[in-house]
Amino acid sequence: MSKPNSMKRRNFLKSSTLGVVAAGVMSGKVVFAGEEKKSEVQLPKIKEFRTLGRTGFKVSDISSGGPGDTAVLKALLDAGVNYIDTAEGYSRGQSEIATGKVIKNYDRKSLFITTKLHLDPKKDMSKEAILKRARECLGRLDTEYIDCLMIHAPDKVETIKTEGFHAAAKQLKNEGKLKFVGISNHGAQWGEEEDNMEKILLAAAADGRFDVMLLVYNFLRKEAGQRVLQACKEKNIGTTLMKTNPVGTYLFMKDRLDAMKKEGKKIPEFWMKVLPNLKARADMADSFIKKYDLKNPVEIRDAAIKFVLVNPDVHTVCCSCRNFDDVENFVRLSGCALSSAETKKLSAYTEGCAQFYCRHACGICESKCPHQVPVNTIMRYNHYFEAQGREKYAMQKYAALPGAKADRCFDCSGYCETACPYDVPVHGLLGMAHERLILA
Ligand code: SF4
Ligand code: SF4
Repeated sequence: MSKPNSMKRRNFLKSSTLGVVAAGVMSGKVVFAGEEKKSEVQLPKIKEFRTLGRTGFKVSDISSGGPGDTAVLKALLDAGVNYIDTAEGYSRGQSEIATGKVIKNYDRKSLFITTKLHLDPKKDMSKEAILKRARECLGRLDTEYIDCLMIHAPDKVETIKTEGFHAAAKQLKNEGKLKFVGISNHGAQWGEEEDNMEKILLAAAADGRFDVMLLVYNFLRKEAGQRVLQACKEKNIGTTLMKTNPVGTYLFMKDRLDAMKKEGKKIPEFWMKVLPNLKARADMADSFIKKYDLKNPVEIRDAAIKFVLVNPDVHTVCCSCRNFDDVENFVRLSGCALSSAETKKLSAYTEGCAQFYCRHACGICESKCPHQVPVNTIMRYNHYFEAQGREKYAMQKYAALPGAKADRCFDCSGYCETACPYDVPVHGLLGMAHERLILA
């Protein structure tokens, strides 16, 4: 069995303490100096299944969050994963096509497949238009029916009422092409604090037509997710999670500056301005690492996933697997409990490193930006790039982002950073995100 898409070793991880922090913030295969993984392993199996709310379907507690690689998805299914999350928009339909190729070799009834449609109120949202798109999803998935069709990350509460979507879903159900309807959310695109993830998903729960939700919930972003999970419990709505490993990265700057110094280049004014703040945060993280003897960042990632699985209101965690190491690492968490030592480690991480995490589905600071830069969305794309290793996808998303991008931040005083209640040094992080997302 070959190993597809092995993650690139990142040289900056090899030596510095800062590198250890950076490794701690990567969700997938994490490589340390001197560490080499076995190339051939006996993959673990799923140990726990949970009822996905009123769908009644018993889903694996660890599930597939849209890998584009057929061999990786096959490995997941062979390990017992039976929930697959994909979307019309993932890699422009390629994720659905890859899913379709794999699932035809499995008992269709043993799998629960969710795909999603983004509803843009500026486009045709009629029943016919939605039906056409849903049928195209069915074609790409090469399947008789979709288990769940979700509205993909709506920005506004009103989008959940899109009658064309609900009418199309009803017709598809009547035709036996669809079983359930759902909704995903990870926050609005820009500054719409009043229409945040919590408000949208609570409204969807109250609406009554949604059977399954995909939401953000993690140990650094607990409260909103817990309220949504509680509402889902009351309505017996199935719950699936994303962004369960919340750690973000602040690095590459050190390497970048070192490289500039070596080359004798003048360090741009922007970096001179934000560097002291980032350096102070890095020093804090260093103290954390020394205090808790953090040698292996995988333990933070594992504890983060166990943290959400401990919550009985969570039904499955969608994991983005890029290679067999990811499959092994995520599947072995199935059915595992969070130990008290891990709980302490997460608390310590919150104390020492939470500052680098721009909270998913937040956006509180965005109304302070004079240029309407979508801070939270850009940092999410950066998360795709850096923490999930989906570099091309992240860059494509950033290139397609309408409106202002983070190059605006280079000439700004950082009003967003001042407004951030979590003390995230987001001004510098945005500058880094911009450079990363346009270059790579
Ligand atoms: S920088 Fe802070 S306030 Fe702004 S979106 Fe991120 S976490 Fe929220
Ligand atoms: S740094 Fe300035 S331009 Fe960039 S998002 Fe923050 S407030 Fe807006």
